[in-house]
Amino acid sequence: MTALFLAIFVLSLLLLAYYRIPLLISIAIVAGLTFAFTELRHFYEIPAWFRWSYGIAAVSLAGFAIKGLRRLLISNRLFSLYRKVMPKLSSTEREALEAGTVWWDAELFSGKPRWRRLLRQPAPQISEREQEFINGPVEELCLMLDDWEISDKYHDLPEPVWKFIRDNRFFGMIIPQEHGGLEFSAQANSAVVMKIASRNATAAVTVMVPNSLGPGELLLHYGTDEQKNHYMPRLASGEEIPCFALTSPLAGSDAGAMPDKGIVCRGEFEGKEVLGLRVSWNKRYITLAPVATLLGLAFRAYDPDGLLGDKQDLGISCALIPTVTEGVEIGNRHMPVGAVFMNGPTRGKDIFIPMDWIIGGQERLGQGWRMLMQSLAAGRAISLPSLGVAGGKMASLLTGAYSRIRTQFDVPIGYFGGIEEPLSRIGGRTYRMDAARLLTLIALDQGERPGVLSAINKYQLTEGNRQCIMDAMDVHGGKGIIQGPNNYLAHVYQSLPISITVEGANILTRSMIIFGQGAIRAHPCLLKEMNAVTGIANSKARRVFDNALFTHIGFILSNTVRSLLLGLTGSRMTPAPVSGPNARYFRQLSRMSAAFAFMADAVLVLLGGKFKFKEKLSGRLADVLIHLYMASALLKRFEDEGRQADDLPLLQWGVEDSLYRIQQGLDGVIRNFPVPMLSRIVRLIVFPFGLPYSGPSDKTVKAVAKILLSENESRDRLVDGVFISDRDDATGRVNKAFHLVLESEPAERAIKNALKESVNFENYEGLVKRATESGVITEEQATMVRLAQQASARVIAVDDFPPEQIAGFRHSGNE
Ligand SMILES: Cc1cc2nc3c(=O)[nH]c(=O)nc-3n(C[C@H](O)[C@H](O)[C@H](O)COP(=O)(O)OP(=O)(O)OC[C@H]3O[C@@H](n4cnc5c(N)ncnc54)[C@H](O)[C@@H]3O)c2cc1C
Repeated sequence: MTALFLAIFVLSLLLLAYYRIPLLISIAIVAGLTFAFTELRHFYEIPAWFRWSYGIAAVSLAGFAIKGLRRLLISNRLFSLYRKVMPKLSSTEREALEAGTVWWDAELFSGKPRWRRLLRQPAPQISEREQEFINGPVEELCLMLDDWEISDKYHDLPEPVWKFIRDNRFFGMIIPQEHGGLEFSAQANSAVVMKIASRNATAAVTVMVPNSLGPGELLLHYGTDEQKNHYMPRLASGEEIPCFALTSPLAGSDAGAMPDKGIVCRGEFEGKEVLGLRVSWNKRYITLAPVATLLGLAFRAYDPDGLLGDKQDLGISCALIPTVTEGVEIGNRHMPVGAVFMNGPTRGKDIFIPMDWIIGGQERLGQGWRMLMQSLAAGRAISLPSLGVAGGKMASLLTGAYSRIRTQFDVPIGYFGGIEEPLSRIGGRTYRMDAARLLTLIALDQGERPGVLSAINKYQLTEGNRQCIMDAMDVHGGKGIIQGPNNYLAHVYQSLPISITVEGANILTRSMIIFGQGAIRAHPCLLKEMNAVTGIANSKARRVFDNALFTHIGFILSNTVRSLLLGLTGSRMTPAPVSGPNARYFRQLSRMSAAFAFMADAVLVLLGGKFKFKEKLSGRLADVLIHLYMASALLKRFEDEGRQADDLPLLQWGVEDSLYRIQQGLDGVIRNFPVPMLSRIVRLIVFPFGLPYSGPSDKTVKAVAKILLSENESRDRLVDGVFISDRDDATGRVNKAFHLVLESEPAERAIKNALKESVNFENYEGLVKRATESGVITEEQATMVRLAQQASARVIAVDDFPPEQIAGFRHSGNE
């Protein structure tokens, strides 16, 4: 009986924490229970300790509710401690952390995501006007692009392609229509980049850069009316080609440490003496710089002579400098691996620019870093993620087809279990990457600027693309390795490190930014606590800190209890917003979100300011947050697309893989827990019955591979939005052969059954003749088999070149 009463007591308190019952209501409930059990003792045998326990619990909770008391005893002391241990943030770090907005990431950090809220978000949409552009000019542009010629012959886009891009205002997707731009939604911007990227990465990068972080985006938000009216129409029409120069040889990932500087001074401009800056810079890796007419430049501004006031170091500033300005060095090219988009260095020494050239004018001098950080999220969530998804979709389309066309041991290689594995990874990842792309675009189109989610998208979708292309290469064997016009993978493979490195290199993004920024921005209390203790230590700050701290304590308690109870019950006690096969995924993700929130707080509380230097832990927690987001996106996508039963294997592969990665991330943190003594207790709370997830089953793997190995609606949905060639080019030949091979399958099977020999592209003539003569197949089927085998032979073929042509590639290109 004692055990039963103890269980009732503990469970009732745990449930208050589990359901996050507010403090005052909790006090009322516990006081009510004290009263009720006191009365019930007349009818039942209720031990005195049991009643007293409720009484003590009610009084203790009431103590927490008396703010003056708790401030005196707890929060004022912790306030001073926090001030000591809080890491010192530089202004660039603080501005980067505070930039942008939070969205679904805050729900994941809460440990109790409101799934209905996610499902209520609108489904992704593209307007009729935007779709016409995608079906028209974008399709036309894709038809103009020849990957091999661009990369290995011209080392540039041919001039007609440049002209087509400019004439059709591809550079003005983010520019408002009133300034002559296309003013596309984020969904449409992404769809355009994705489709072009599925044909040629150089063209996609050329189009995406002016529509990403750079002069256009900065002018849009911060430009003066005069700057907007002058530059916007010229940027939209392609009259101006912009680039944006942030990176210096000294300052790469730590761009805020740039040595490039501008000194406020008076100088002569257009015959008059005006206030301006004398700017010097040495930048490298700048995309479009070799052909740019308008240089967006970031530098640190100084005012040593006090012309603007008494502040000397004004901070990072952004200017727009016409590249025809005397002294601007521009034109040399770097040669990025695997792609030939324009990229190069730019330099300038002591070049005088008038104050009007500062983006936003004099009043924005010194605000450049904040402007850049605030504007970063949109481009980062669109450009490279779209490129990454295009890679995954093309890998799905072509690797599935190739695995069906290519036979070894008389069997299409895609039917081997060993090949099913990479095929399923390609298909599953692509479905998941696209889901994350679409979900983040929904946020952008609602005006959000989600800093953490854009970092997740950038990292995960470029990394996912790398994994897809590596798998595609392995499945293609020698076909992927031998370069030439027949190879549709080599350039993509070679250029993978580019998207991994730019717009926040992936290692840095995973190990420092995603969880680091997420913990501060998306956590419900941390930023409030930080702001309270880093400002002036007055009574208002102490009050704010007290409120944030006690909310935080309640939050930690609740997540500890939720994590434990959800673990003990296998998540059965939490509701799912839908019924059906995917309902359990919502429940498992609720459990993992609680575990993540608990672990995040455990690590942050134990490490305090030292956490900043624990990148391995931060990286693991980032993996958990990433996969909570990826899996959320999958569930949303599945609902948005009307729960397509045929897509279930793709959903299952994605969520089960994400759950497994979440588990591995948490397990890694527990194994390396900052206080090893506590790791057993933490493990008990997070994984009371051991590690529950094992990743996609063999059955799911097979089912996903099957989607890629035939023509079906699920495959169509998976690769929707890419350019599918029906031409006699490298990818068009695969698409055609795939179709023919599937159509001729029954006839080839009949031949094999009758003649005991498999058809291939070397023996088909003889076999088809014998099979037709003996009535095994019809004439029509014979034609089908011939066409299929001829088409297969062309797909299997690789290029060879005479030695003199090879020498040409090595030295000056294939001219
Ligand atoms: C093809 C190309 C196009 C580009 N286009 C532009 C452009 O248009 N404009 C522009 O301004 N810049 C551009 N860049 C620059 C790009 O943004 C930088 O290359 C990037 O910021 C990384 O800098 P870095 O190459 O000097 O590498 P580093 O900063 O030297 O980094 C090297 C490695 O260290 C890691 N690392 C660094 N710090 C940390 C940390 N704290 N924790 C963990 N890991 C860390 C990085 O992740 C990376 O893996 C371009 C670069 C390339 C290659």
